[in-house]
Amino acid sequence: MPIYEYRCDACKKVSSFLLLRASEEIEPYCKNCGNKLVTRILSRVSVLKSEEKRIERLLDPSRFSGLDENDPAVIEKTMKKLGVELGGEIGDGPGDYINEGSF
Ligand SMILES: [Zn+2]
Repeated sequence: MPIYEYRCDACKKVSSFLLLRASEEIEPYCKNCGNKLVTRILSRVSVLKSEEKRIERLLDPSRFSGLDENDPAVIEKTMKKLGVELGGEIGDGPGDYINEGSF
């Protein structure tokens, strides 16, 4: 469930809004003073959630459709590709798994 946080432009208090559905519209306002001039801020929660979603997407089984699980070379290639995507973006630097000669 996404949580949106807004900081009031007037009193700087942060108000959190929990969305029950992703499509739900919200009209953010300051829960402290009622001001509607609020600025969206990225909460730690929503950042973590989007990271989870990204990894979920990387691990989406549909990416492996057509994968011949009896062919070790195909699996190795796929795992390397996945390793490059995860490692490259998280910033661990080049690992052994992307070294072609390491196997
Ligand atoms: Zn306020």
